[in-house]
Amino acid sequence: MPFQNKNGLRFYQFDIFSETVINAVFTRDGGVSPAPWNSLNLSISVGDDPAHVTENRTRAFDALGRNLASLHDAHLVHGVDIIYADTPRPANQPIQKADILFTDNPEVSLFMRYADCVPLLFHDPKQNVIGLAHAGWMGTVKGVAEVAIKAMLEKYNCKPEDIVAGIGPSISIDHYEVGEDVASQFREKYADDAEKVLQNHDGKTYLDLWRANVIQLQKSGVEHIQVSGLCTACHLGDWFSHRAEKGKTGRFGVLMALKKA
Ligand SMILES: [Zn+2]
Repeated sequence: MPFQNKNGLRFYQFDIFSETVINAVFTRDGGVSPAPWNSLNLSISVGDDPAHVTENRTRAFDALGRNLASLHDAHLVHGVDIIYADTPRPANQPIQKADILFTDNPEVSLFMRYADCVPLLFHDPKQNVIGLAHAGWMGTVKGVAEVAIKAMLEKYNCKPEDIVAGIGPSISIDHYEVGEDVASQFREKYADDAEKVLQNHDGKTYLDLWRANVIQLQKSGVEHIQVSGLCTACHLGDWFSHRAEKGKTGRFGVLMALKKA
């Protein structure tokens, strides 16, 4: 069962990762925020009461047996910058701009927030390193998945064939119409593969962010990939969707950590 229940929270868990990895994609269930952030909104930058967000974050971390003080997160900016989180983020340290986080320290919980953009989760069981990334269309066209894998090879001496990757709940091609400005950037980036990531129906163009990220991972040599196949815009009871809720919504969280030995 990919969905787990704990303390009134409900979360999706990838089963491709080994037992040494804690991972959860939290649904909206079990939080304290009112509409339109109902109820487990994990972002303070969408207008919700920060006290609600703090309570929601505490519940999320508690559900996985993690202390909120272990958190290391980032201010997501649709780029490809990386934070190597060797320690939890000190509470007095300003949140840094980045869209890729890595750690090999079991004391650190990687944490990011989403509403349609693609969560990318990484683990190398041999080098015992985990990573989390944020891939909207802008990050994807900048190659965020490729950049993340390259960093795992260079920084942690990983081999691509050892890396395990998960692609989390996010907007599916069926609900992701894009304009020509976006489509043209994907045609340029994907060249011969562009027809695999862009589809035309009735004069409209649709973008497949799942496929686009899978292609980047495969071209980087990653063989073990699990796609959740869950569309945020289709399942508003489970997920926040920026597009389907016209910007008035919250953010769901993804938490990833290494179990302590
Ligand atoms: Zn959908």
